[in-house]
Amino acid sequence: TELSLIRNFSIIAHIDHGKSTLADRLIQTTGGLSEREMSQQVLDNMDIEKERGITIKAQTVRLDYTAKDGKTYELNLMDTPGHVDFAYEVSRSLAACEGALLVVDAAQGVEAQTLANVYQSIEHDHEIVPVINKIDLPAAEPEKVRTEIEDIIGIDASNAVMTSAKSGIGIEDVLEAIVARIPPPVGERDAALQAMLVDSWYDPYLGVVILVRVMQGVLKKGLNIKFMQGQTEHLVDRVGCMRPKIEQLAELGPGEIGFITAQIKEVEQAKVGDTITTVKGGATKALPGYKEVQPVVFCGLFPVDAADFDKLRESIGKLRLNDASFSFEMESSAALGFGFRCGFLGLLHLEIIQERLSREYDLDLITTAPSVVYRLTMTDGTTQELHNPADMPDPVRVETMEEPWIKAVIYTPDEYLGPILKLCQDRRGIQRDLTYVAGRAQVTYELPLNEVVFDFYDRLKSISRGYASFDYQQIGLRQGDLVKMNILVNNEPVDALSMIVHRSQADMRGRGLVERLKELIPRHMFKIPIQAAIGAKVIARETISAMRKDVTAKCYGGDISRKKKLLEKQKEGKKRMREYGNVSIPQEAFIAALRMG
Ligand code: GDP
Ligand code: MG
Repeated sequence: TELSLIRNFSIIAHIDHGKSTLADRLIQTTGGLSEREMSQQVLDNMDIEKERGITIKAQTVRLDYTAKDGKTYELNLMDTPGHVDFAYEVSRSLAACEGALLVVDAAQGVEAQTLANVYQSIEHDHEIVPVINKIDLPAAEPEKVRTEIEDIIGIDASNAVMTSAKSGIGIEDVLEAIVARIPPPVGERDAALQAMLVDSWYDPYLGVVILVRVMQGVLKKGLNIKFMQGQTEHLVDRVGCMRPKIEQLAELGPGEIGFITAQIKEVEQAKVGDTITTVKGGATKALPGYKEVQPVVFCGLFPVDAADFDKLRESIGKLRLNDASFSFEMESSAALGFGFRCGFLGLLHLEIIQERLSREYDLDLITTAPSVVYRLTMTDGTTQELHNPADMPDPVRVETMEEPWIKAVIYTPDEYLGPILKLCQDRRGIQRDLTYVAGRAQVTYELPLNEVVFDFYDRLKSISRGYASFDYQQIGLRQGDLVKMNILVNNEPVDALSMIVHRSQADMRGRGLVERLKELIPRHMFKIPIQAAIGAKVIARETISAMRKDVTAKCYGGDISRKKKLLEKQKEGKKRMREYGNVSIPQEAFIAALRMG
C-alpha cells in the first residue's frame, strides 16, 4: 500500500472508558465483522481480560476505510495492554504507530492511567486525537472533560470527537479524524529491511506468530530473515494481517503492520522489540528501544496436592509457550514440597498466571508471599540478587541490601485524599508532589516496591471506594534497613512464610501475621507456639492452646455412625492442609500472608 494511504494508531484509555467498545465499532463500521460476530468484544480474547476489562496482550486489526475524499485507506489499529505491568510492551506497540486516539469517559474525566499512557504517546511524537466517549450518559459532562484534557494533559481538545461507542454515535467522525489528523508513516521500499517485532504469541495451528511493523524495506514469504538481538535465522512462510480474521498477503511494505510466521518453535526466540532484517544484504543497525524484560516480582507456586506436581510442571510449561516474560525454576520447600519459583512483570501478571493455572488447568495451588528482587552487597565485596527470602544468606555476611523503588501517581477525588496519604506514609512513602485540578487531587509518591506488592492496590481501592486510580514506574534500587523475618510454627521455621521486611515495619508485620495464623491454624492435641523472629530474636508470639479432648470422646457409648462421620470430617479437613512437622497448616494460612494490613 502507498504510504500516504496508511494510518497506524493505538487507542489510549483508562480502564472502562470504552476502548474495546470503540475498537469493535470501528471494526464493525468498516466491515471487518458481521453484526453476529460482533456479539463478543473482539480485541480482548482471553477470559480473564474480559472479566477484568483489561487488555493483556497487544492485538492488531487492519481496517479498510473509504473516506469522504473518496480514497480507501489502510488503518492499522493497535490495541495496547492496559496495565503498568506491561509498560515495555506498551512502549513497543506505541513505537509502531504514528498517532493515538485518546478515549476519555465523558462522565469520569481524565484518570491516572490515561495520563501515564498519554505522556508515553507524546514521547513517541504521536498525533493525539481526543475522543470524548459515553456522551449518551445522563451524567456526561463533555465540555468539562474537554477543559480537563486541555488543563491536565495540555493538548488542544477544541476539535475533540464526541462519541457514544455504545450507541454508535460519532464513529464516522472518528474515522475521518484518523485519516485527516494522524500522519502517514514514512519509510523506504528500496532500503534494507528493518521490521520491529511488536509482539509474539503461540498459536496451536500456526506455531509462533509474530506481529511486526515494517519500518524500511519489504517483508515477503520465502525470505531468509534474521533477528538482530536474538541472533537467530528463520525462513518466512506466511505474511498477513488480521481483519481481525487472518488474511494472507503477498508482502508487508514500509509503514505496514501485520504478522509473519517463520517456523519458530518458541516465543522466547521472538523477543518483543527485536529488529528483523534479511540474512542477505540486511540492515547494519538495529532499531532503537530494545530492552530485555526482567521479572520484578517472584513467588513460589506449589500444588496443594503433591501428586499434582507433574501436572503443574506441564501447565506452567504450556503457559510459558505464550508468555516469555515469566520465568520459572523448580523449588523445594520443607513445608510445601516440590513446586516452582516463578518470576513476573508485576502483581497483575502474577495473578493472571495464577488464575489461568487454576482455571484452565484446574490446579489447586498454594502461592507463597510475593517478593521483589533485592540486591545484596556482601562483606567480601561481591554482589548477588535475592529472589527468594528463603535464600537469604547469614546477615553477618551482608554489607548492604538494596530494594527497588517506584514512582507512583495516584489520582483521586479529594475527599479520599487524607486516608490515601496515610496509606502511602504507612508504606514508607515519600511525597513528591500534590496538585489539585477540578476537585481532584493528583499525588506523586516514591514508594518501595516491596510495600506495594502486598495489598496496596486493594487498600487504595477500598479506601477510595474504587475512585482512586494508581499508576507506577520503577525508579531504581535504594539501600534500606531490611531484615529477614522468619515465622516459626511449633518452633520450626516455615520457609514459605518467611519474608524480607523493613526493620521499621517488622514488629507490625510480625504481629499481624502471627495473630492471623493463630486464627487459621486449628487446635491440635498439644500447645502450638507461633512466633515471628528476626534471627534469634522473637518479635511477636501467639500460642494456640491444646485441644481439651478427642472430638470423638463425647460420642462415647453413643451413636457409632455419628462418631464415624466426625472422623470423616476431620479427614476431609486434613486433605486441604499441609502437614508441617506434626502441625497441620491450612492452605488459607499461606494466602493470609499476602493479605496483610
Ligand atoms: P475499556 O476497558 O476501555 O476497553 O472499556 P469497554 O469498551 O470494555 O467499556 C467499558 C464499559 O463501558 C462497558 O460496559 C461498555 O458497554 C460501556 N461503554 C462503552 N462505551 C460506552 C458509551 O459510549 N456509552 C455508554 N453508556 N457506555 C459505554
Ligand atoms: Mg477493554
